[in-house]
Amino acid sequence: MAAPLRLKATSASPGVATGPAFIAEPLAAAASPPSSLSGHTELSDAIKTAIRELQNLATGADPESSDIVEFQIEVLQDPTLTDMAGARIDAGENIAFAWVGTLDGYIRELECSEEDQMRARAVDILDIKNRVLAVLTGTPLDDFPAGSIYVGKDMEPSRFLAHDWSAGGGIALYAGSAVGHVALLAKSRSIPMVIGAGQFATERGQHIGVDGDSGTVILQTSKGNATPAQFDHPATSSAPAPDNGNLRAADGSQILLSINVNAPDEVDSIIVTTTAGIGLMRSEFAVTSLGDAANEEKQFAIYRRLLDWADGRAVTVRMLDIGGDKPLAGLAEASSLRGIRLLLARPEIARIQARALLRAAIFGNLRIMLPMVTFPSDVDDMRRIYREESSELARRGVPHRIPPIGMMVEIPAAALMLDHFESADFFSFGTNDLAQYLVASAREGADFALYQVRAVPAVLRLLSQAVKLAGSKPLSICGDMASDPSRTADLLAAGIRHFSVAPARLPAIRSAIVGLNADGTKAAGE
Ligand code: PEP
Ligand code: MG
Repeated sequence: MAAPLRLKATSASPGVATGPAFIAEPLAAAASPPSSLSGHTELSDAIKTAIRELQNLATGADPESSDIVEFQIEVLQDPTLTDMAGARIDAGENIAFAWVGTLDGYIRELECSEEDQMRARAVDILDIKNRVLAVLTGTPLDDFPAGSIYVGKDMEPSRFLAHDWSAGGGIALYAGSAVGHVALLAKSRSIPMVIGAGQFATERGQHIGVDGDSGTVILQTSKGNATPAQFDHPATSSAPAPDNGNLRAADGSQILLSINVNAPDEVDSIIVTTTAGIGLMRSEFAVTSLGDAANEEKQFAIYRRLLDWADGRAVTVRMLDIGGDKPLAGLAEASSLRGIRLLLARPEIARIQARALLRAAIFGNLRIMLPMVTFPSDVDDMRRIYREESSELARRGVPHRIPPIGMMVEIPAAALMLDHFESADFFSFGTNDLAQYLVASAREGADFALYQVRAVPAVLRLLSQAVKLAGSKPLSICGDMASDPSRTADLLAAGIRHFSVAPARLPAIRSAIVGLNADGTKAAGE
């Protein structure tokens, strides 16, 4: 067989994978929001489907279960609910939110009823709310065969998340970005990925390789030699130490090491005692559709699961950072607004997440982080939402707690004015967006990787100024720079004492920290 052909690309996530190529179609544009006419039809179709599902459930069920199901079917057939949701659709609300908003009002009424029997009905209504919601939003993305090498111009984060990576596989992009969200996900799940390979010729099913260590695509690999002697594979790093992420730099200073998490199941393979907890959970990667955004119970279960895993350690959940390069299909505002601006413009989304977080907070050491904050009033406005939702939960007798509320520092205007953010309980530096907005280059743009390297001195100067402005408030860094051991000394010198990194980078950052003094200088004998 001829020697394999190596194409030079750029590494976006280390590791090596081989498998049959899956050639992706170019990405389709996000669906535009439905018109109000199709909104009515879509809702009544979803209700009909839910009724059919319930009828199937009722067939052959015991009398008690079929009574409950019959009651649910009667509720779904009640035109009052459809009319109320229809009025919200006419007023411009998205269908899923119109449905959830209507049903939530009904559930609240039942929960506050004086009669036990009425209160007990609330859970049945919650069930049908979620059943119709699942039909409305349950359009799974086209998946690709497990174990394949995904080949395409780009990849959507939701496609990455929907895929089962347990059988291995990798990603080879013609274009793409090393600091884009798919690269972040690939790094945190240890999926080999290269970008910038240019359009290369391969066929669906042809066996190819991705070498994320050297940044190459290998064509013409044979199925038989899938563990490639062809790849220069560096020794894998040793397992992290069970030090609870509580480290001492060479001069004895205390440094904390946490992890960044994107989807809840990522923590399953991480030993909790190797971390100080979760410094950043990007909730937008676990809440990937409008249906999820409208689904308080699903979100509650996700946050609760992370808190259970953390066993008392901090779990910092960032509110949905949707918009911009992280669109949410069907949400028109996501093309012009991002992060907290979008959440404040669409408070019904923020309120559902706030309730799920408030309820989860009683199960552990939760911290809520706000994305893309620019002004102190952003934090004040969101705090007001939390206070209002807390009062509402209290009125309904639902156990909850308002945990600390902090913010990402990822917009230069906020970093420069950090001493004005009295109402934020803690700060975390997002160097990915900070670098982007400092050099005025789109994060997914081809030139950004280059600009990002050249922006490092400016980012570091801004960080060390902001550290001083933060005063005594807890401060960490969760941007990609924290996961790069060649930057650890600079970040320590800037005054950072808490690093939140991609799980795969724990060993590398741990060994960088212990070999340095807290001012970033090398330990004696290093
Ligand atoms: C950042 O901007 O550095 C950050 C951590 O947020 P994200 O990468 O999700 O935008
Ligand atoms: Mg960011």
